[in-house]
Order: sequence, then C-alpha cells, then structure tokens
Amino acid sequence: MGDYQHHWKDGTPVHLPLGKIVCVGRNYAEHARELNNPVPEEPLLFIKPSTAAVHITRPLVCPKGQGAVHFETELAVLIGRPLTNASASEVERAILGYGLALDLTLRDVQSSLKEKGHPWERAKAFDGACPLSPFVAADQLAKGDLNFTLDIDGQRQQTGDTGDMLNPIVPLIAHMSTQFTLLPGDVVLTGTPKGVGPLVSGQTLSLELEDVLFVETTVV
Ligand code: ZN
Repeated sequence: MGDYQHHWKDGTPVHLPLGKIVCVGRNYAEHARELNNPVPEEPLLFIKPSTAAVHITRPLVCPKGQGAVHFETELAVLIGRPLTNASASEVERAILGYGLALDLTLRDVQSSLKEKGHPWERAKAFDGACPLSPFVAADQLAKGDLNFTLDIDGQRQQTGDTGDMLNPIVPLIAHMSTQFTLLPGDVVLTGTPKGVGPLVSGQTLSLELEDVLFVETTVV
C-alpha cells in the first residue's frame, strides 16, 4: 500500500499526486432501489483517502473477518486544475481524464454504521478500498454519455451509462467544489449503477469503458 501512482493508458505516469478521492453515493436511481435506500435530495458525498488507492490490475485483497466486500464499478474522473466553488465551464476545463474504479465497500459494516447514523469511513476507506484503472485523456473520448461495464468470470454484472446519473458529472463536480477544494491529481468517483454484489476469492473481473479502456483483475 501507499505506492499508488496515476498512469495513462499507455503506461506513462501522470505527474500529479493523488490527494483524495471524492465519491458520491446513490447517483443511479436503480442502484439506490436495489439496496432499499431513498434517493437523496442533495448529492451524498464521502471521501476515500489516498491510502485507499491501488492499481486495479494488482490482485484484489479483501479485508478479512468484516463480512461481505461489495464491488461497485464507477466512472473515475481525474482532476487537472484546482476547483473551488467552480462553474460548469471551469469543471469542464479541469477534467484531465477518465478511468474506471471499484468503490469497494464492506457492506455489512456499512449497514450497521447506517443504522447507527455513523460515518461510513470504516466501510469505504480501508487500505485497498479504491482500485483505480489507468486514465484515458478526456479529449480521446467522444463527447456525450459514456458507457462502462463489469463482467465477472465472463458474465455481465454491471452496465453503466452516465446519461442515467441523477447528478451528471459536471454539475456533480461543481457541487463537490462548493464543499471541498479539489486539487490536481484528485479523483472523483461518480457512483455505481445497479448490480453490485460480493467479491469472491478466485473471481476474474473485467472492466470496460466505451471501447477505449479495458482492464482485468482477480480476487485473491
Ligand atoms: Zn459507490
């Protein structure tokens, strides 16, 4: 842990430090429904520390003895400029690249935290809780909605279309920047579509963004 460094798809390093990973919960209505959660009135934000990041292609190591570890496949946005109380056009100029992430979640721990009204960090911020793919430069992706998928052992598990987001990417990041300054190298996770479930030892996960990024990993 602790040796994570952003990379571009071609393997070259992105010379920006990862400071924090700002995440949104329940950004797809059908995912909120599958966990019997209400759709929030304003974006439900939380942060994973930089120590949660790992390269997604390394075998995934799950915490032991804390119940189910769920995968949540999410579009990741790499921030390239500082953003504080940003406008939509400032956010657009600050998006350096897109990648894919797993928002790994200790689901049983999270359920008990939710019941008590406690913060989610114990369920969301552990070492290794944010496997990240390499990034694709923003200008290499078509404008418009982005599609991504997760297959486990060859079976389709999750299909995401950014057009289904309750808070679309640019207004979401603008809103985040009213709460926390985003710095170059920070990453925004944009929420998971439906189809989340537990990781099981020996599984192979294949993630794809449009037809430009494909990564594969296994569960230890
Ligand atoms: Zn998530």
